[in-house]
Amino acid sequence: MIEISAVSKTYNTRSGDVVALDDVSMTVRPGEFVSLVGPSGCGKSTLLRMISGLEGITSGRIERTEEMVNSTIGMVFQSAALMPWRRLLDNVLLPVQLKGRIPESKREHARELLTIAGLAGFENKYPFELSGGMQQRVSICRALINDPDILLMDEPFGALDALTRDDMSALLLSIWEKSHKTVIFVTHSIEEAVLLSDTVYVMSARPGRISRRFDVDIPRPRLADVKYSQEFAELAHRIRDQITQDGDVAAARHSG
Ligand code: ADP
Repeated sequence: MIEISAVSKTYNTRSGDVVALDDVSMTVRPGEFVSLVGPSGCGKSTLLRMISGLEGITSGRIERTEEMVNSTIGMVFQSAALMPWRRLLDNVLLPVQLKGRIPESKREHARELLTIAGLAGFENKYPFELSGGMQQRVSICRALINDPDILLMDEPFGALDALTRDDMSALLLSIWEKSHKTVIFVTHSIEEAVLLSDTVYVMSARPGRISRRFDVDIPRPRLADVKYSQEFAELAHRIRDQITQDGDVAAARHSG
C-alpha cells in the first residue's frame, strides 16, 4: 500500500508561508483507482508531486509497504509536453531511451500503445501535426511505456474538449481494467472521478485537507452509459454537495 500519514506541506515564499496541505492521511491499495477532487489551490498537485518524490514533505510520512516498495511510477501532466522535434514513436520511447539502448521489443510495445490509443499510422508524425487530444494520448502512451505499477495523473484531460475527454476516460478505463495499475488521478470533473474511481477523496482548500472519502460501489466494467444511472447521479450529487459545503465553511471562516 501507499501510506500517507499526517502529511503537511508549507511553501516558504517571499510573501510569507503558504500552508498547502495540513494533516493529510490516506492509504492507497495496490490496483486501486483513487481520485482527488476539490477547488483550485487545495493542494491536489502538491500531494501528487509529494507521492512521486518530486516535492519534499514538510511533516508527516509517505511510505510504501513491502509489496509496493519496488513499484515504478509513471506521471502524466495536464499539458502533453511532447518534444516538438521528435516523431511520435520517439516521444513515446523517450523514457526508455533515458535508461539506455532501445530494444526492438520496446519499439514494438510503443507501436501497440499508440494503436490502443487510436494513433496507428501516426507513429512518424510530429506533435505539431496533431490535435491537443491526440498529443495527450501520446503523453499517456509515454507514461505507460515502461509499464509503471503506479500511475500519477495530474488533470491529464483538463485541457481537452468534452468529447475528447470522454474518449480519453474510456481509454484509461480500458487500460486500467486490463492492467490493474494503481492510479492516483487529480481532476476537476466529479463525473470523471466517479466514472473511473474506486475511491474519491474530496479536498478542501486553505489549508488543504481531506474533507471526506467516498467509496464508488458502481459495478465494473463501467461503460459510458453508467453516467445516466441513478446511483451515479446520486453519488456525483453527494460529492458536489460536499465540495459546496466545504466552500461555504471556508468562506464563513474567512469572513468571520
Ligand atoms: P491544486 O492542485 O489543488 O490546484 P496546488 O497543489 O497546485 O493545488 O497548490 C496548493 C497551494 O500551494 C496553492 O495555494 C498554491 O498557490 C501553493 N503552491 C503550489 N506550488 C507552490 C510553490 N512551488 N511555491 C509556492 N506556493 C505553491
